[in-house]
Amino acid sequence: MTIAEVRSICTLHSSIVNRYLLLRQPDLKELFVPDRIDRSSPEFRSFLDLYENASLLELGALADAKRRELHPDGVVTYIVDRNINYTNVCVADCKFCAFYRRPKHAEGYVLSYEEIGAKIDEAKALGAVQILMQGGHNPYIPFEWYLELLRYIKRHHPIHIHGFSPSEVEFFAGRFRMSVDEVLKELMAAGLDSVPGGGGEILVQDVRDRVAKKKAGADKWLEVMEIAHGLGMKTSVTMMYGLGETHADRVEHLFRVRAVQARTRGFTAFITWPLQPEHTEMEGTPKTDAQTHLRTVAIARLVLDNVPNLQASWVTMGLKIGQIALRFGCNDFGSLMIEENVVSAAGTTHHATIEEMRRHIVDAGFMPARRRQDYSIIKDEIAA
Ligand code: SF4
Repeated sequence: MTIAEVRSICTLHSSIVNRYLLLRQPDLKELFVPDRIDRSSPEFRSFLDLYENASLLELGALADAKRRELHPDGVVTYIVDRNINYTNVCVADCKFCAFYRRPKHAEGYVLSYEEIGAKIDEAKALGAVQILMQGGHNPYIPFEWYLELLRYIKRHHPIHIHGFSPSEVEFFAGRFRMSVDEVLKELMAAGLDSVPGGGGEILVQDVRDRVAKKKAGADKWLEVMEIAHGLGMKTSVTMMYGLGETHADRVEHLFRVRAVQARTRGFTAFITWPLQPEHTEMEGTPKTDAQTHLRTVAIARLVLDNVPNLQASWVTMGLKIGQIALRFGCNDFGSLMIEENVVSAAGTTHHATIEEMRRHIVDAGFMPARRRQDYSIIKDEIAA
């Protein structure tokens, strides 16, 4: 995008334009230290200033311009898939989690292969093209169970398996005395297709030490992703905010993701949503407002200029905010979410039908298109 285009599209206050132009100067990128973010760099301070001080509409206009630059066709995609949480037994004790149960808890469960297969069949009947399969860090499940599960699904209920977040992969590596590389190779050989970005929360160690001390640290989480990318797998990446972190922590999270992406190009999409504190140890933490969410989506679109897709998180924020997010940098309406246990365990969840999702996309001025996990569009699914 040219400077003139930025000025004409956004009709912004000149200081905002200047801040944007400062961000675009390629030589400033050289100040960026990939794995140890320099918070005093001009680029970092410029983005932080933009996040904290630009008006909501100015920030949205910049993000919308970036979205248009990356996705000029006016199409907003969505996917039909199903969350399958194969176990809720977990020893990680994350303070923000309402989903897990400690070992031996009466409500702990592990789904059988047959139960998982039945859920896949139901989802496929509704048009699902992938499953998102994640679970707790269950110390009682042997590695062979996961491998056989993947083989079972591919044999009897074939579908794209987007499964096992980096924190699960890291847990497997520690539990089964394997390297992350070995774990991923075995999972891939058994049928794993791609890795979801779950468990990212805020990729700043101080924050993780406060709320999720026992699971993969910030460096390890990113390392797992980089190894997965090196093995040829695509992954998504997330940020759950509202854990008491600073705005600078959020911007650092985005910088760290961008640094990995600059090396690997393996992240297909970024998704951000706020903490849902109900029924968790963090109950009472103030909930995010719409403005904060939209600002966060917008700054993510601007920092992550090398991550192609940004999902609107309407499951936590509601369809209307999701719709507005399409004008704050998002180009994807996410998933129909046939089943969502983790967010709903914390009490906040929104539901929609495919027709409702498509209508919200159309009403926001875009053409809806159903997609696969790799963002390829399913034929005949673009609606005028
Ligand atoms: S967020 Fe995941 S790892 Fe943390 S307690 Fe919940 S299920 Fe366990």
